[in-house]
Amino acid sequence: MKKLSQQAALITGGSRGIGAAIAKRLAREGADVALTYQHAEEKAEAVVRQIRNEGVKALAIRADSADPEAVMKAVDRTQAELGRLNILVNNAGIGMYKPIAEFTVGDFDRIMSVNVRAVFAASHAALKYLGKGGRIIHIGSCQAERMPGPGGSLYAMSKSALVGLTKGMARDLGPRGITVNIIHPGPVDTDMNPADGPSAGYQRSLMAIPEYGSGEDIAAMAAYLAGPESGYITGAGFTVDGGTNA
Ligand code: NDP
Repeated sequence: MKKLSQQAALITGGSRGIGAAIAKRLAREGADVALTYQHAEEKAEAVVRQIRNEGVKALAIRADSADPEAVMKAVDRTQAELGRLNILVNNAGIGMYKPIAEFTVGDFDRIMSVNVRAVFAASHAALKYLGKGGRIIHIGSCQAERMPGPGGSLYAMSKSALVGLTKGMARDLGPRGITVNIIHPGPVDTDMNPADGPSAGYQRSLMAIPEYGSGEDIAAMAAYLAGPESGYITGAGFTVDGGTNA
């Protein structure tokens, strides 16, 4: 039996990048998978088709993470269509880099609504369904722990906020047998941070292993944290960054 069979997972932002890699990996481990997206319907449906080839159920749900009602409805729909919810991966996120003097209050609200408020909304809604053995995994950033250069104040703030949320939620949910952990990726080759992008050389100069990671590198950690062997791990952060923060 596969290690996640008889389980259902919801991954926010699963149409591309790290979220798509996590969705595919959890399906390969036997989980039924729901994923959300904002715009990329065709990409989301392509991921769903690939996932179904693993012989599991899959569905894509359009849900803008900036809209907490939409996020909560996506959780309810996952439970309704997959019949259960055991694993929530809060992956959807946006980056925004500018000098602090150029950020607006609107920028602040936007980044916090997608990167933080949606994580609360999804987790809150999922608590109706998660039982003993449930897993909540947030996707943070190595920049929650160390900001190596200018421009990332609001992004780092949003990802640091998830560290506190992870720890507090772990305390609340431990007695229910639900674990809550956070993965901090370093530079991963996606649309958000392409390995041939303008700052890629700078990012490589920070790494102990001077190569971009792949979505699969992050998905491997997510699969471990989603699985039965990680039941005694909660409130913890896992940095997968090629040694960027070393
Ligand atoms: P991408 O930009 O490549 O993909 C983002 C995914 O999130 C897409 O599926 C996108 O959906 C979805 N998404 C974005 N905004 C929203 C929204 N408002 N509502 C719903 N879905 C949304 O990002 P990555 O895969 O690189 O990043 C995934 C996570 O990893 C993020 O939280 C990011 O902060 C974090 N991270 C990434 C790093 C990197 O180097 N790539 C490093 C550290 C952390 P759609 O396709 O519809 O737009």
